[in-house]
Amino acid sequence: MGRAFVYVILGGGVAAGYAALEFRKRGVSHGELCIISEEPVPPYERPALSKGYLLPEDPARLPSFHTCVGAHEERLTPKWYKEHGIELVLGTQVKSADIRRKTLLTAAGETISYKILIIATGARALKLEEFGVKGSDAENVCYLRDLSDANTLVDLMKSCSGGNAVVIGGGYIGMECAASLVINKISVAMVFPEAHCMARLFTPKIANYYEDYYKSKGVKFIKGTVLSSFEIDPSGKVTAVILRDGSRLPADMVVVGIGIRPNTSLFEGQLTLEKGGIKVNGKLQSSNSSVYAVGDVAAFPVKLFGEIRRLEHVDSARKSARHAVAAIMEPDKTGEFDYLPFFYSRVFTLSWQFYGDSAGEVIHFGDFSGSTFGAYWVNKGHLVGSFLEGGTKDEYDAVAKATRLKPAIEDVAALERQGLGFALAIIQKPPEPTVTEVQGSDLVLKKPLYAWHATAGVLVAASVAAFAYWYGRRRRRW
Ligand SMILES: Cc1cc2nc3c(=O)[nH]c(=O)nc-3n(C[C@H](O)[C@H](O)[C@H](O)COP(=O)(O)OP(=O)(O)OC[C@H]3O[C@@H](n4cnc5c(N)ncnc54)[C@H](O)[C@@H]3O)c2cc1C
Repeated sequence: MGRAFVYVILGGGVAAGYAALEFRKRGVSHGELCIISEEPVPPYERPALSKGYLLPEDPARLPSFHTCVGAHEERLTPKWYKEHGIELVLGTQVKSADIRRKTLLTAAGETISYKILIIATGARALKLEEFGVKGSDAENVCYLRDLSDANTLVDLMKSCSGGNAVVIGGGYIGMECAASLVINKISVAMVFPEAHCMARLFTPKIANYYEDYYKSKGVKFIKGTVLSSFEIDPSGKVTAVILRDGSRLPADMVVVGIGIRPNTSLFEGQLTLEKGGIKVNGKLQSSNSSVYAVGDVAAFPVKLFGEIRRLEHVDSARKSARHAVAAIMEPDKTGEFDYLPFFYSRVFTLSWQFYGDSAGEVIHFGDFSGSTFGAYWVNKGHLVGSFLEGGTKDEYDAVAKATRLKPAIEDVAALERQGLGFALAIIQKPPEPTVTEVQGSDLVLKKPLYAWHATAGVLVAASVAAFAYWYGRRRRRW
């Protein structure tokens, strides 16, 4: 038994949804494209699962957050796929792949063949058992990667209102889940081995701001230690978490967010792997020219940094998917993927964005006792990364554009003084610039004209932001 398609997307997550839309825009014919997903629903915006989905009131539910609403594009419902002749093979796990024969074998025993394959299998949540701790199967222990996990978490929160939750892990899943638990009136203790939360990105100073905010909401931080075991009652429920230092935390529920592992196993030994993912070139093409990889599972060249990277963020999933489809459908017109790494998080009323690379020296700026602050990373004399909390849309755009420009930084003290003004000024186009005027980091604001531009820019940005804030409150964001 078998079916054949010109294009097959393996995986039905964020990247698959954006790839499908791009195929449609580029004129894929009815019956040419198929998406195979082990999930029971068409692609959706996964970040919604730790944000709107967990709200106690008016929570987000499908079909509202099917892709591609996160990028303000069409919402691809089951009807949309049908209308465009795109075959959805849902609730179906692919068990093996034969790259030489160009076939995939599903758990139901069907063979699906392709001319071009896009691997969009994403990643799975790491389990406690992989770190030698038993208990993942207890009914009040949950992870958060897919819709079924999110439903388990919602049910647990409902049954634990007023109780205690322990969150294992201080990354963005842990932080976002902790915020949602608090909003659902559950007391939270967060446990992680690092010295501060979001250790892979945040500096101690940035982390301190968020930890203080969380503490003001009643969250307890237990840092520098790990979970060693659970206390489990006769019904199989966890009642307490025992830490390596011997302390005991009572628990009505446990949320585990300890990282992810890319789903590469079907292709090991068949495709070249790097950085834990499937290695692809600037066209997202793997070591086999008929096979592309996108999203969390792909390790691709980040031109800006001259390195192969594997990113685990939604923007890169969306953009890499689109680029791969462009490269497949219009190879002569499609250049190399030139991506500026970007990720974000929203918790409580806080919201941050990060662009670029967190390498080199860190320069903090802004008001860490207020609501808008940030940091720049300067590596080998160039600005390579920017973090901003509480910015307006224009301010986020400015730090993104400034980071992409990778400007030379001659004076870090001046950069620190200018703070956000540096990014706002560097992206202004002065009427008659001379080369020296735009090269130095400090010179940009020394010119009264540029200072005026920056001030005017801030005023315009502030009014645009006020409107955007008002408007944004009326719309859901993913
Ligand atoms: C709760 C949560 C919140 C997040 N929030 C943010 C955020 O705020 N900001 C941000 O930048 N990023 C965020 N992310 C990360 C972002 O969602 C991912 O980077 C993105 O989903 C990656 O897209 P993908 O298509 O590569 O993988 P996924 O979206 O994970 O999709 C992979 C799909 O492949 C399927 N699959 C895998 N193997 C098989 C198989 N053998 N057979 C059939 N199907 C298979 C999976 O079931 C899944 O449907 C969040 C992630 C989660 C889990």
